[in-house]
Amino acid sequence: KPHLRLQFHVTLYGQGDRLLLVRDVTRMHQLEQMRKDFVANVSHELRTPLTVITGYLETLLDNSDDLNPRWKRALQQMQQQGGRMQNLLNDLLLLARLETTDYPADSQPVAVDLLLLSIQQDAIALSGSAHHKISVDNSTRGKLKGSSAELRSAFSNLIFNAVKYTPAEGQISIRWWQDEQGGHLSVSDSGIGIEPQHLPRLTERFYRVDASRSSATGGTGLGLAIVKHVLLRHKGRLEISSVPGQGSTFTCHFPTSQLSDSKQPVIS
Ligand code: ADP
Repeated sequence: KPHLRLQFHVTLYGQGDRLLLVRDVTRMHQLEQMRKDFVANVSHELRTPLTVITGYLETLLDNSDDLNPRWKRALQQMQQQGGRMQNLLNDLLLLARLETTDYPADSQPVAVDLLLLSIQQDAIALSGSAHHKISVDNSTRGKLKGSSAELRSAFSNLIFNAVKYTPAEGQISIRWWQDEQGGHLSVSDSGIGIEPQHLPRLTERFYRVDASRSSATGGTGLGLAIVKHVLLRHKGRLEISSVPGQGSTFTCHFPTSQLSDSKQPVIS
């Protein structure tokens, strides 16, 4: 039997009178759960055949020296689109897991400075010939309590977005600091920026400011939704500020209860 889910609203009116509204949202909650399970199952089932297809494509391309250039280009297109589909399925699966799991995130001490240095290397590889200047200010050697895999995926999404939405040679600054409020990670870029009307919706699944640009950069439209859910699971929140044409700053704020003073940092 499903748990009964009720929503309560109290409204004050008149001379201190109160109106209590109780809404039964059990069915809504069940349907939402079914949607999440369905997405997770379909993504999982599609992954295996796709791996087989992209595997064969790779073999074909490895032996394509004598092939007609038009056929070779077609195979390369198929491989590229297969890669996009794999990224999409991986993100869908990760998001479904983050949304449905009832378990709290791991609570291991994660060395943020080391994690950021490792993501910086991946970001430099992603930037490639665009030669972004990617700096990490890791003078604070703080540790966050959490799941290093989940935090890596959230921070990578923010940092890779900065690379994707910043023209070549642009500047990306990553900073981690701690104060009496807690720990903070900011990712600033000198990129294309975001118009203010889009900001409140950016963390929705598949929301994109400019769909054609996003698909050209190979995005799935799920990155910021993943960031939001990872932060939720780590008691954090995301703040976004941006000036169109000048750049954006995405900041993750974590409360002091998420900071760790353990001597054994974990990085993966
Ligand atoms: P995508 O896979 O499309 O990048 P995300 O969920 O990561 O999806 O981001 C949602 C949208 O937010 C992007 O399509 C893009 O329009 C906008 N966006 C995210 N990060 C940045 C950034 N650093 N600069 C400008 N726009 C951004």
